[in-house]
Amino acid sequence: MKNNFGLYLHVPFCASKCRYCDFYSFAGSEAEMDGYVQAMRKHFSAFSAQMAGRTADTVYFGGGTPSLLGEKRLTALLDGARAAFDLAPDAEITVECNPDSMSDSLLRGLRDAGVDRLSVGVQSAHDDELRLLGRRHTFAEARDAILRAQDAGFGNLSLDLMYGLPGQTAERFLESVQALLDFQPAHLSCYGLKLEPGTPMGRENPVLPDEDAQADLYLALCDTLRTAGYEHYEISNWAKPGFRSRHNSRYWVLSDYLGLGPGAHSLLDGRRFAFPRDLAAFCADVPPAPEETVAGFADWSEYLMLGLRTADGVRRAPFEDRFGRSFDPFAARLAALSPHGLTAPVPDGWRLTEQGFLVSNLIIGETLSAGE
Ligand code: SF4
Repeated sequence: MKNNFGLYLHVPFCASKCRYCDFYSFAGSEAEMDGYVQAMRKHFSAFSAQMAGRTADTVYFGGGTPSLLGEKRLTALLDGARAAFDLAPDAEITVECNPDSMSDSLLRGLRDAGVDRLSVGVQSAHDDELRLLGRRHTFAEARDAILRAQDAGFGNLSLDLMYGLPGQTAERFLESVQALLDFQPAHLSCYGLKLEPGTPMGRENPVLPDEDAQADLYLALCDTLRTAGYEHYEISNWAKPGFRSRHNSRYWVLSDYLGLGPGAHSLLDGRRFAFPRDLAAFCADVPPAPEETVAGFADWSEYLMLGLRTADGVRRAPFEDRFGRSFDPFAARLAALSPHGLTAPVPDGWRLTEQGFLVSNLIIGETLSAGE
C-alpha cells in the first residue's frame, strides 16, 4: 500500500571480518551491543511521531551479522519497533544470519518473536573457498545451521552464494549451487566477488575468472535455477513462486523505507537521509543527515537503473506519473536492443533478458543517456 513503509535496522557487528568485505562492521563488545540496542530504541522513539499513521509491512535486520546480537537483544529490538511503529500483523520480518551464530536458542527466540524469514550467508559449499574468503564456518557447519533452522520452523529461508572466486571452475561452482538446492530454499541470492580496495583480498589482487568465464558461470546458474523452479526476479536474486523478498523489492521501485543504525539510509516522501557510519555517533543520538545527491543523478535515473535490474522491468505509466517526463526516449533505446536478445517487451514497458543482465551496466548507461 502507498502509505506503508519498510523498516531497515543496520547491525554493525561481525565476529570477524571476511577477507573481501568493506561493509561497515566490526567485532563489538557485549557493552557495545547493549549500548547499540539502547540507542536504537531511542531512535525508534525519535521517529515514532513522524511515522504515525503509516504501517511497516516489512522489517529487515541487515548487517553486519544481526544473528550475533543474540535472541534477547533482537527480541528487545523487535519489541521496541512494535511499540514505536505500527507493524502489520503479516509483516515480513527478515534477519540476516551467519551459520556460526545460529544457535538453537537464537532460532527458537526469533521464531517466537515473529521473525518469519532468515537470510543465511553460506557463500560456497567448498571449505577451501570459504577459507579463502575468510568465512568463519565450514560447509558442514552451514548445513547443520540450515537444517536446524528448517527444523525450528523457518520455511522461508534465503541462502547467499558467491561466484567468480579465484580459480573457481564451472564444475565447482555448480557443485555449490546444487548443494544449496538440496535444502530447497525459498530464495537464493548470488553475487559475483568484487575485489574492494582496502580489503585483504583487494590488496592481494588475485586473478579472478575472466569476463567470459564469469558470464558462463552466471548463465549456468540461471539455467540451473530455472530448471529447479526458481523465478529470476532480480539480477542477483531468485525465488520460488510467492517468495520474492518483499523488503528488498521496495528498494527496486523506490518505495519508502526508514533505515536506522550506523550507515543506514532512508527514503521517505522523496527525502533521503543517512546515519553516519559511526557507532559512537549513533549511540550519542547524532541525527541522520540529508544524503548528498550525485550531480546529474536524479530519482528518475535511479528508478530506471533499479527497475532494469528486475524481471518486471520498467513501465511507462508509473514512470510518467511519478516523474512527469516522457518514457519514449528510454523505450526507444531499449527497443533497439531487442533484436540482439538483450531486452524484451513487458506490458507497457521493457525489461532486460538474462543476456542483457550480463551487460546491464552498459545498457543502463546507454538508456539513461537518452534522458540527458
Ligand atoms: S559476515 Fe558479512 S558483513 Fe560481516 S564481514 Fe563477512 S561479509 Fe562482511
